[in-house]
Amino acid sequence: MIRNERKKLLMRFKSLKGIQDILPPETHIWQRIEHISRDIFKKYGYKEIRLPIIEATDVFIRSIGETTDIVEKEMYTFTDKGSRSVTLRPEGTAPFVRAFVEHHLYNEPSPQKYYYLGPMYRYERPQAGRQRQFHQIGVEALGVEDSKLDAEVISMLSTLLKTIGLKDVQLEITSIGCIKCRPDYRAALKEFLRDKLNNFCDDCKRRYDINPLRILDCKVPTCIENRKGAPSVINFLCDDCKKHFEGVQRYLNLLKVPHIINPNLVRGLDYYTRTTFEVKSSSLGAQNAVAAGGRYNKLVEEFDGPPTPGIGFAIGVERVISLVKETPHEHESPDLFLCTLGHEASEKSIVLAEQLRNRGLWVEMNYDESSLRSQMRKADRIHAKNVIVLGEDELKKGKVVMKDMQGKKETKVELDAEEILKVLQKKK
Ligand code: ATP
Ligand code: MG
Repeated sequence: MIRNERKKLLMRFKSLKGIQDILPPETHIWQRIEHISRDIFKKYGYKEIRLPIIEATDVFIRSIGETTDIVEKEMYTFTDKGSRSVTLRPEGTAPFVRAFVEHHLYNEPSPQKYYYLGPMYRYERPQAGRQRQFHQIGVEALGVEDSKLDAEVISMLSTLLKTIGLKDVQLEITSIGCIKCRPDYRAALKEFLRDKLNNFCDDCKRRYDINPLRILDCKVPTCIENRKGAPSVINFLCDDCKKHFEGVQRYLNLLKVPHIINPNLVRGLDYYTRTTFEVKSSSLGAQNAVAAGGRYNKLVEEFDGPPTPGIGFAIGVERVISLVKETPHEHESPDLFLCTLGHEASEKSIVLAEQLRNRGLWVEMNYDESSLRSQMRKADRIHAKNVIVLGEDELKKGKVVMKDMQGKKETKVELDAEEILKVLQKKK
């Protein structure tokens, strides 16, 4: 009881609901995924862009769309001290396009290719696969409308997920047409929904007039049930969109990227045109999408930039990590632990440690007056590969004994960074 009370007192501060700390050794997996991503993006000519995590709220409303779930329900929006409405970014494309126009990046040779990685924020109910702070790795490629770019982007995503080690993932693609095909489809969809509208949730009833396409993305079970059999936009594509979509499929086949066409694939953002896609995993539960993206040919204009087509995707890093069933790395371990006895040895060891680190080694040392036994125990706990004991005697003779913690082999070596380095390198 007393212990629990104490625990409660000691735990006054906790991270916010749905917002998690990421600790070692899991951070190793994060680093590996980030490293693989950067490496692959580089080969396709993508450059990193680092954007703020907070933007004027309008940046998101204008682009994602007023009647989307993200804007209606999920945004972390608040008023700052200057009475401006600001929002923690729920996704990366809108801030990217804002920056693209602000810095005239459309003047760079096309396609302009950028990637980003970082946290996103959505006020959703935390559950498996859904956090309020989560991370995305995303790319954006602009300036080219040709379906070869769509196929290249999708193929790169597929290579990336494969290299990370994901298995059992399916790539679904579709085309949602352009502003030319939209009006006919919108009319057909409204026609289909008209008699059933009473069975839909209040949100959908409202969406019917403003943005009926959003009804297809509603997560309410009765709405899902009632919209079964709704017409699919893929049957309403104009000739140009049809040709574009055929191109995407042809090039994906040429590149041998396995994919299926899902005419019912709906994305939760309004800015998409033509190609949209999602990568799903059968090993995840209800939240089964690990990555998603699409083309946005009108978005740059929405931000007052010149007409510039674009396409991109974002990977949900937490979901990817939950699928790479790797045991977080066996511990990485220090090359050397310096045990010290006495003040003089301590002074020598802080200098020696620094010299060895500057030569590329991972060196840990003792910082206090603890006994040799406890220092050795510590070296063992942190899995130090080698240990050197520095006492008065060693300092006087200018020689130390290096002990290999695994083989228990002892080597005599001069008390000198270069000499110690040589011995350690020989062991590697
Ligand atoms: P979902 O239907 O799963 O909510 P979404 O359509 O809202 O996904 P996107 O906006 O397409 O998601 O974001 C791309 C990816 O980011 C998703 O496929 C998913 O992997 C990840 N993601 C989105 N929201 C969250 C969240 N709240 N927590 C963790 N990952 C998320
Ligand atoms: Mg969502």
